Amino acid sequence: METPVLVVGGGPVGLALVLELGWRGIPCTLIEQSDGSVPMPKMNEVNTRTMEFCRRWGIAERVMQCPFPNDFPMDVVAVTKLGGYELGRVERPARKDQRPGPFSPMNLQVCAQHWFDPMLRERAQRFPGVSLLYRHKLESFEAAQDAVLAQVSALDTGERITVRARHLVGCDGARSSVREALGVKLEGSDVLSHSMHLFFRTHDLLGKLGVAPATFFAAMDGGGYWGNIRAIDPKRGLWRLLFDVPAAFDAAQLDREAWLRRAVARPGPVEWLSASQWTRRGVVAERFSAGPVHLAGDAVHQVSPTGALGMNTGICDAVDLGWKLAAVIGGWGGERLLSSYDAERRLAGARNVRMATQYYEGQAQFQEGLEPLEDDTPEGAALRARVGPQALAHITRMFRTLGLQIGYRYEDSPICVPDGTAPPADDPANYVPTARPGARAPHVALADGRSTLDLYGRGFVLLRLGTGAPHGGPLEEAAAARHVPLEVVALQEPEVLDVYERRLVLVRPDGHVAWRSDTVPSDPLALIDRVRGA
Ligand SMILES: Cc1cc2nc3c(=O)[nH]c(=O)nc-3n(C[C@H](O)[C@H](O)[C@H](O)COP(=O)(O)OP(=O)(O)OC[C@H]3O[C@@H](n4cnc5c(N)ncnc54)[C@H](O)[C@@H]3O)c2cc1C
Repeated sequence: METPVLVVGGGPVGLALVLELGWRGIPCTLIEQSDGSVPMPKMNEVNTRTMEFCRRWGIAERVMQCPFPNDFPMDVVAVTKLGGYELGRVERPARKDQRPGPFSPMNLQVCAQHWFDPMLRERAQRFPGVSLLYRHKLESFEAAQDAVLAQVSALDTGERITVRARHLVGCDGARSSVREALGVKLEGSDVLSHSMHLFFRTHDLLGKLGVAPATFFAAMDGGGYWGNIRAIDPKRGLWRLLFDVPAAFDAAQLDREAWLRRAVARPGPVEWLSASQWTRRGVVAERFSAGPVHLAGDAVHQVSPTGALGMNTGICDAVDLGWKLAAVIGGWGGERLLSSYDAERRLAGARNVRMATQYYEGQAQFQEGLEPLEDDTPEGAALRARVGPQALAHITRMFRTLGLQIGYRYEDSPICVPDGTAPPADDPANYVPTARPGARAPHVALADGRSTLDLYGRGFVLLRLGTGAPHGGPLEEAAAARHVPLEVVALQEPEVLDVYERRLVLVRPDGHVAWRSDTVPSDPLALIDRVRGA
């Protein structure tokens, strides 16, 4: 079998990559060892940047109409237990009450993985060049300078298939065999905790307890901060309970009912559905690529779930790598284009790993001296009054992360041209719009109802902003000479010029700014060569 791109792993990141490639008209093959079903979700929060990509892929409406009730507030709350004391609440509106904010046409959505993955899969399958092979496992591969030979087994028939691919991408998760085979090491905090989560079903849990709805409950009691409870599918009564366990904990010894009593005041009978034991890590791979083999998603960064960044980080990898693979296969990407994937995404991944680890470690402040926290005494009330604001600050930090979601920048990227301006402060909570090269080109609402983001995607876009914008002709000619797809878009809205700050702005296919200036560059061909990685 031959394919330009062989993607190993059909989790959300592998699916996003083949969707991105299919959308760009690049044939590719995905192999996934399982049958693709997601019996229980890990991921729940599809963040703003991922939603912007979903908008481009044409699935944003579906995500927003997922079975999570659209009148259920997405609030996150710190509690002593469900039906116990509420210590702090961060309000996040229900889907029906969401309005686009100033910085994006999209909002973060709660859409658990058993709904989200099939949406990616169905959309990817609609592209004729995308082939998804479930129950197919990568056994081994050999990489040469510009091709990969992979041995794949079809698990249902036992057939062995040799796949020749120009590029192989390991999206094969935390235990990536592709990463192992390349000898790529992980750097960072190898073990942050040993953790478990349990899924259970019970109907009207919050209603029976008289608790105001929220999607996420951070739980702390006299024994300290111990875990969280998450509404996965409130309509069907599906909940998840998550906590840390000692190293080498024997799951057979787990007392589920005791954990339920810790989590819920007056628990009724519940149906236990499944349990999963895992290790929380904060690690990033030392390299994201080796020749024609690349790695993406959990294969290269393992992110503590605190902050809901794991999959969302991986989807940004898929988009960054996707356009670069398409450019190289399309013949216009330069020989250094693919190596910029590592330069751009490794730092972005490390930033998210660092912040998610900090959010997890922030729980340590709630370990000591909380014994009376649940007591109905003046001492308990005084403690709650003291701990409440700290608990609120902690959950606010963990869930108000727009700066992380859309404020990541490819500083020092070899394929972006610095303009000499100073970088804005890196603020994980707040996003500060900037069109500095390397940044995500900001959203500005256009007069015709579109977003500037709707202009980007297929090829490069040269924005000519305001009435006095120089002519884009020289850059158009240079792009044509190198077969680089480039569209010139003139916008008169003063708001766009205000935010983008220059009259000419070159935006890449992934929606990041490559270059900006008030004047045409002296050597347009050199500029085009730089941004196409030649
Ligand atoms: C409790 C919890 C909550 C989370 N919540 C969020 C959240 O709200 N938001 C968020 O962004 N992230 C969240 N995450 C993280 C998120 O689930 C992961 O980052 C994400 O699933 C990683 O996707 P992936 O595609 O890289 O890897 P995976 O989902 O692990 O997929 C890898 C796939 O590769 C396949 N595979 C492996 N080896 C082979 C092989 N040899 N041949 C063929 N196939 C192979 C596997 O079967 C698997 O399907 C959470 C994680 C946990 C544990």
